Amino acid sequence: MKYDYLIVGSGLFGSIFAYEMNKIGKKCIVIEKRNHIGGNIYTSKEENINVHKYGAHIFHTSDKKVWEYINEFTEFNNFINSPVAIYEDKMYNLPFNMNTFYQMWGTKTPAEAIAKIEEQKAEANITEPKNLEEQAISLVGPDIYTKLIKGYTEKQWGKDCTELPAFIIKRLPVRLTFDNNYFNDRYQGIPLDGYTTVIEQMLDGLEVKLNTDFFEDREKWENIADKIVFTGMIDQFYDYQFGRLEYRGLKFETETLDMENYQGNAVINYTERKIPYTRIIEHKHFEGSDSPKTIVTKEYPAQWNPGDEAYYPVNNDENNEIYTKYEELASQEEKIIFGGRLGTYKYYDMWKIIDEALNCVEKEKELIE
Ligand code: FAD
Ligand code: UDP
Repeated sequence: MKYDYLIVGSGLFGSIFAYEMNKIGKKCIVIEKRNHIGGNIYTSKEENINVHKYGAHIFHTSDKKVWEYINEFTEFNNFINSPVAIYEDKMYNLPFNMNTFYQMWGTKTPAEAIAKIEEQKAEANITEPKNLEEQAISLVGPDIYTKLIKGYTEKQWGKDCTELPAFIIKRLPVRLTFDNNYFNDRYQGIPLDGYTTVIEQMLDGLEVKLNTDFFEDREKWENIADKIVFTGMIDQFYDYQFGRLEYRGLKFETETLDMENYQGNAVINYTERKIPYTRIIEHKHFEGSDSPKTIVTKEYPAQWNPGDEAYYPVNNDENNEIYTKYEELASQEEKIIFGGRLGTYKYYDMWKIIDEALNCVEKEKELIE
């Protein structure tokens, strides 16, 4: 064998694994089907603005080890994500907090907001939430559910809220303070010079082949290294033998505008069902870039078809059951390690991917010793 490890995918997971193994003298090769490294966190500099090519990426974590690790590759700015939602002709702060409650109901104190939410919840009479709709209503009541959650969620996932798992909405905080920070985490920010420089440092000096799909020459790649780290779709790896897993696709429409400031915020969500995009991001506001122009991206959720980029796993019971069968096969592999969002079919944020990759590296090192 020519290499110790073949790493399929140059996203955050694959790049951390390759970096750490190279550091201890293991010979690695990384293959990547896209024409650039970085996977979905890839940014490119245009008009002096780092453009998030695959949607807004805000780094956040409460895990000190993860934070210190990523800070070895970049400094972060002090960006705090505070998206604003537009529903019909009104704007609402997110996540759901005292500002939102004031805008929705005119409540001014936590006691007034609690009373309003309780009144709304009592009308709905939900004891044990079984799906996203029931979960959302039992957290914030039907008014907020109808205006800020239902339309956004149904276009985002292409499913009715009653068919979606409750955990998706639990990603968002509900607060009785006037705090518009979208995340509860201790650490948050955007890399000072984009995410691509982080990945470039991880892969510096390593052999990386772009425009190279594992499945186009599977036999060759399966015989090139002692072990394979696979961060692509696990169902594709196993030839869909237990059926296809479901993914959600996205389309991005990016425009450079001849003005300094288009919307005054990095992220504006459009929560009405009839508007086909979920959010518009204005990239310069992630980092206060100095530019006479601005670049904005509309994010359109889309049905995923084989061959499209798989952006989100759809972790409902049906898909999770199919995944369990693939996971069982994966657990018996001695030569293959599955990692990352697609390799483990998990809706993981960046911090969790770093955590998983570092754990995976530790396990691998124990085997080597
Ligand atoms: P990926 O980035 O998907 O990397 C996998 C790589 O493998 C890709 O480059 C792919 O091209 C390559 N590959 C796949 N199959 C093959 C093959 N057969 N042959 C060769 N190469 C292959 N996280 C946050 O923490 N904060 C955010 O604000 C945030 N926003 C997000 C917004 C969007 C729209 C999306 C989709 C995700 C967001 N995330 C966010 C999540 C974040 O993108 C992921 O946690 C992270 O990028 C996952 O890294 P990964 O290495 O697992 O996967
Ligand atoms: N969500 C919503 N309204 C919003 C923003 C989010 O209903 O204005 C819901 C939606 O179901 C979404 C989930 O909250 O899928 C999680 O949102 P998050 O911003 O974490 O999603 P991501 O950035 O991963 O797309």
